[in-house]
Amino acid sequence: MGIVVENVSKRFGSFQAVEQVNLEIKSGSLVALLGPSGSGKSTLLRLIAGLEMPDSGKIYLTGKDATHQSVQERNIGFVFQHYALFKHLTVRQNVAFGLEIRKVAKKKIAGRVEQLLELVQLHGLGDRYPSQLSGGQRQRVALARALAVEPNVLLLDEPFGALDAKVRKDLRAWLRRLHDEVHVTTVFVTHDQEEAMEVADELVVMNQGKVEQIGTPAEIYDRPASAFVMSFIGPVN
Ligand code: ADP
Ligand code: MG
Repeated sequence: MGIVVENVSKRFGSFQAVEQVNLEIKSGSLVALLGPSGSGKSTLLRLIAGLEMPDSGKIYLTGKDATHQSVQERNIGFVFQHYALFKHLTVRQNVAFGLEIRKVAKKKIAGRVEQLLELVQLHGLGDRYPSQLSGGQRQRVALARALAVEPNVLLLDEPFGALDAKVRKDLRAWLRRLHDEVHVTTVFVTHDQEEAMEVADELVVMNQGKVEQIGTPAEIYDRPASAFVMSFIGPVN
């Protein structure tokens, strides 16, 4: 499902967190929102999700004005940096959660959960509790749980931010492969330019609440549109 953000602004008190953002995300693509801390990435993601309301501007999902739709109506899957798994539920129960509250038939849930565990390469770990998993495994459970309800859009806010460098690198490649398999429109927030370059089809570079540049990793690397983009992307060495 495609996403269009049209002239969207959001302030908190006197602080302009997102300013006149225009953005088009193609259906089925994997896009990274990239920028330094405080540049408005999470706020923009929350606006797309419907967790925040814009002060002005509109958000369209599949060409339909979704600006006033609730989070549920938008059918969006979310994964945050800090694991939000239910500690008292097993991996299988965590993944099944969204299906159970939607009253999907038990038999159907069981089959779907096994499929999802296979997809995130956690088959065999369904009976474990979150405390018995590594950080990387927990984030894969969170992804399986987000995908369980077949969301129109998957929003990931620094999903690997709390993990160590080696695990992050593995998960990047893994996310790319997963996306190639599932094709759900995915917006991925990161402040790590290398991560964005490696994973995304397109980058949206943000600075102080504004979009500085949108383009493929190659376009942005070869032709940075501003001094900010040039210094932020820089040569990765
Ligand atoms: P990023 O994700 O790029 O680090 P954020 O979107 O989280 O940036 O935040 C942008 C700015 O907006 C930050 O300076 C932050 O303090 C401010 N901000 C975000 N959410 C709120 C809020 N709910 N109330 C007040 N200020 C906020
Ligand atoms: Mg953030």
